[in-house]
Amino acid sequence: MSTYAAPLRDMQFVIKELVGLADITAMPACAEVSEDLVDAVLAEAAKFAAGILDPLNRVGDKQAPKLVDSTVITSPGFSQAYRQFVEAGWNGLSGEPEYGGQNLPHVVSMPVAEMWNSANLAFSLCPMLTSGVLQAMKLKGSPAQKHRFLRKLTTGQWSGTMNLTEPQAGSDLSAVRTRAVPQGDHYRLHGTKIFITWGEHDMAENIIHLVLARTPNAPEGVKGISLFIVPKFLVREDGSLGERNDVKCVSIEHKMGIHGSPTCVLQYGDGPGAVGFLVGEENRGLEYMFIMMNHARLGVGLEGVALAERAYQHALEYAKTRVQGRAIGQKSGDRVTIIHHPDVKRMLMMMKAQTEAMRALAYTASAALDKAAHHPDDTERRKNQAVVDFLIPIVKGWCTEQGVEVASTGVQIHGGMGFIEETGAAQYLRDARITTIYEGTTGIQASDLVGRKVGFEKGATAFAIIEVMRKLDGKLAVVKNGDVAAARDHLRRAVDGLTTATQWVVDTFPANPQAVAAVSVPFLKLWGVVGGGWLMARAALLANSKLAGADADFYRTKIATARFYAEHVLPQAAGLVRAVTGGSSSVLALGEDQF
Ligand SMILES: Cc1cc2nc3c(=O)[nH]c(=O)nc-3n(C[C@H](O)[C@H](O)[C@H](O)COP(=O)(O)OP(=O)(O)OC[C@H]3O[C@@H](n4cnc5c(N)ncnc54)[C@H](O)[C@@H]3O)c2cc1C
Repeated sequence: MSTYAAPLRDMQFVIKELVGLADITAMPACAEVSEDLVDAVLAEAAKFAAGILDPLNRVGDKQAPKLVDSTVITSPGFSQAYRQFVEAGWNGLSGEPEYGGQNLPHVVSMPVAEMWNSANLAFSLCPMLTSGVLQAMKLKGSPAQKHRFLRKLTTGQWSGTMNLTEPQAGSDLSAVRTRAVPQGDHYRLHGTKIFITWGEHDMAENIIHLVLARTPNAPEGVKGISLFIVPKFLVREDGSLGERNDVKCVSIEHKMGIHGSPTCVLQYGDGPGAVGFLVGEENRGLEYMFIMMNHARLGVGLEGVALAERAYQHALEYAKTRVQGRAIGQKSGDRVTIIHHPDVKRMLMMMKAQTEAMRALAYTASAALDKAAHHPDDTERRKNQAVVDFLIPIVKGWCTEQGVEVASTGVQIHGGMGFIEETGAAQYLRDARITTIYEGTTGIQASDLVGRKVGFEKGATAFAIIEVMRKLDGKLAVVKNGDVAAARDHLRRAVDGLTTATQWVVDTFPANPQAVAAVSVPFLKLWGVVGGGWLMARAALLANSKLAGADADFYRTKIATARFYAEHVLPQAAGLVRAVTGGSSSVLALGEDQF
């Protein structure tokens, strides 16, 4: 069983050199963040991830939480680890200082979150959801609600959840039926929410649920949904905990993966109704919840990166120790470890290259998020917000789909032992499988991308990003390095294809949105593949300028990885472009009777 080691060097490269930490720290709101501080935070997080969370990953997988009298008893060691997590201040890393947070930018909190996810995805879902609740309440909570809830959510003494799903309302939230009836200064909620991650547990003193529900006479559909804060324990004026609210966990799911995280069915209002407090205005709940969902979508995309990294480390260790066969052409002599076989090398490099490309894309989105929040110039803020909005479905959709593929390759590298639970390779694949489903399936991300993000704005942000990709070509052209030149060649063709496919979506969407929907997932994957290729080529360009200095081995490997990505991943773009521009009619022609 391998031990997780955070990929600090690559993380630092992406943050500092590729994404540009200096641009973030130059903004007055982030002026207190220094490179030394970032290095220290990452190093400490790496220790916590490896020392505390990683050893519990298997424990959670094998000894899932149990429901005992409406209380969820978490896997052995989880509660203690959570206490250490909170005491060390990790929960409040990007929280507001006013509420006890450390206010670090996303470009720093994202690599830290990647470590938590790699080391123990099931555990890390708890702080991830709390952080989503914080985002939504920070922007939409009333001053009194902020005063009452934000401090303990920031420190992690209390955790948060997101309650959208009901049996009949999954991807389609317009079907939400939970009722909220006004009563004085609060509401009483009745209904059943399913699949609520960390909906009940014994790690935090209180749980703050953000719940979608309908008030009496609310309009039908998404325009009649409101958002409520429903605490597990009511909170008194002075912040102390009062009586237990009328919400309880009635069952927990048996799942394919992330066994360590309880997925709960929550019953609201078995008795008088759960006391809930309206966030913002009635009927605008989905709009508010999207703040949390967008945050969580980037977070789930990052889970794909993190599991890919973990699966890669695991497979690499196995490939270095498993002896099987001789090197090609050798009839005698010692048998070799499988890392010497070209196909195993190809698989390992496929895992590494895809993981690094995904990391580069996800961290690019996090830097844009910081600039959208803090840039002193309003135009820059708006430009960066458009980039974040555009990248969210791609990071969520592509990184999670790739995460599953990379984890599956990890199993393949283990041969038969990959299929046997004892090696641990299968857990990463099982855990990864949910990431393409929750927070909106890949199909839902793709429909967001082709509709709101490309179709409605006639490709404005998409073409602006393509323009930035094209500008890189001139810089790559003058580099005298065969590997970089090879990467440039593949990238140029892939960007041409991306332009063609994006134009097709822009042209087709207004008159035939069905045709666009039929090929929306290949379109999303195309953007992921080419976006990753663009950033890997930029990484190669940067690395090439540093070959003569310190750490030359890292930069040489980065260039080799970028070339591999260009030659083994970027060619997928051509097929995806053909599927987008020519594949919709074969989908639309299908009748139900043809299946
Ligand atoms: C382990 C786990 C944890 C979860 N945690 C939470 C949580 O904390 N809070 C919460 O509220 N929910 C949570 N969920 C619910 C999760 O977000 C939903 O399962 C997910 O959004 C999909 O909804 P569904 O399961 O109803 O599938 P459906 O909506 O029934 O979808 C089934 C299939 O149809 C496709 N489909 C449906 N509608 C469309 C469409 N319009 N266009 C194209 N394709 C479509 C989907 O892509 C999918 O392939 C969790 C689920 C699981 C399994």
